[in-house]
Amino acid sequence: MTATLPIEAAPRAQRTDRIPVAVLGATGSVGQRFIQLLEGHPWFRLTDVVASERSAGKTYADAADWRLDTLLPREASALVVKPLGAELTARLVFSGLDSSVAGEAEDDYANRGCVVVSNSKNHRMDADVPLLIPELNAEHLGAIERQQKRRGSKGCIVTNPNCSTIGLAMAIAPIERLYGITQLHVTTMQAISGAGYPGVPSIAILDNVIPYIGGGEEEKIESEPRKILGGWDGSRFTDATFRISAQVNRVGVIDGHLMSISLKLRDDKVLDLDRLRREFETFAGEPQKLGLPSAPKQPLHFLAEIDRPQPRLDRDRERGMSVSVGRLRPCPLLDLRMVALVHNTIRGAAGAAILNAELMEAKGLL
Ligand code: NAP
Repeated sequence: MTATLPIEAAPRAQRTDRIPVAVLGATGSVGQRFIQLLEGHPWFRLTDVVASERSAGKTYADAADWRLDTLLPREASALVVKPLGAELTARLVFSGLDSSVAGEAEDDYANRGCVVVSNSKNHRMDADVPLLIPELNAEHLGAIERQQKRRGSKGCIVTNPNCSTIGLAMAIAPIERLYGITQLHVTTMQAISGAGYPGVPSIAILDNVIPYIGGGEEEKIESEPRKILGGWDGSRFTDATFRISAQVNRVGVIDGHLMSISLKLRDDKVLDLDRLRREFETFAGEPQKLGLPSAPKQPLHFLAEIDRPQPRLDRDRERGMSVSVGRLRPCPLLDLRMVALVHNTIRGAAGAAILNAELMEAKGLL
């Protein structure tokens, strides 16, 4: 089912009535990215910042230990941090909350009529909650109507996937469409910003690789792409049928998750690598058609150089919103192998959620 478009996405310059937005978990790693990316946003205006009791009552400038390499935006610095559960000015609520509190808090705001666009894992696999990548499964927004009925409210939750899952799902989408995938193995090399701040101690990660990431990271990467690349039949989600095996590693990189992927194709189809490269380069979806403000011109970039993508060189491509793919070649065990890179706190988290909200606004769902 494809949702219809009641309004056209207006170009940047035409919006004078910016939509008030709140950020839950505003002081954290993902929260700070939200604040950075919302500065001067053409459609959204930051009105509320929410964090724990440790931060509540302080100005954002005092509460947040600002760690990004741009200056703390002036519009955020003087806002007073609210505690979780507080009344908000905004109805559109972005969440970068710690998963220990996100589940209940996001439900609470959605039941009170807010549109919650979340990064947290808690509601991703719920039967009526879209796990959205706008280029891949915009039609999954159809589930919102069912969710609103369940809640008895105009509020809802829409989620974005795990930071590695987003890169993986985007990188394999053209292959799934062209050939069909039956099995996939992925080994991730994940940046330390994915663990929040202060995250992994420097003495543990410098000169080291840690072959474990807590919080069910491997299970998320093994299950979420099947929901994303599956369908919405008007009443329920149907999973894609391929199976995934994931092994995750934390590496001493600040931002950017790199993944080595091998996959088996359906029906022993004959591989045409040149055609596949063109599919990556021309891949596009609703955000590109609608010209959404945060949409990359090209969601996937194919890099022909033998030693790319690399986190430091490629993570900021298209303001961190596109996924880079390279090293595409046959696999002697399965059929095909390649490397993919995603900026974990931009396309893998805050940027993804902002794009989700832009899509919802363009479809008249806010
Ligand atoms: P983080 O740096 O630890 O930030 C957590 C945020 O949650 C802080 O703002 C913190 O506020 C708030 N918080 C913690 N306990 C709270 C409580 N009891 N009540 C209210 N607020 C509370 O974590 P993060 O890395 O930003 O991750 C945030 C969420 O996004 C997690 O669910 C994570 O799994 C998900 N995620 C992260 C990434 C990534 O790359 N980092 C990517 C995708 C998804 P205080 O500062 O006041 O403690």
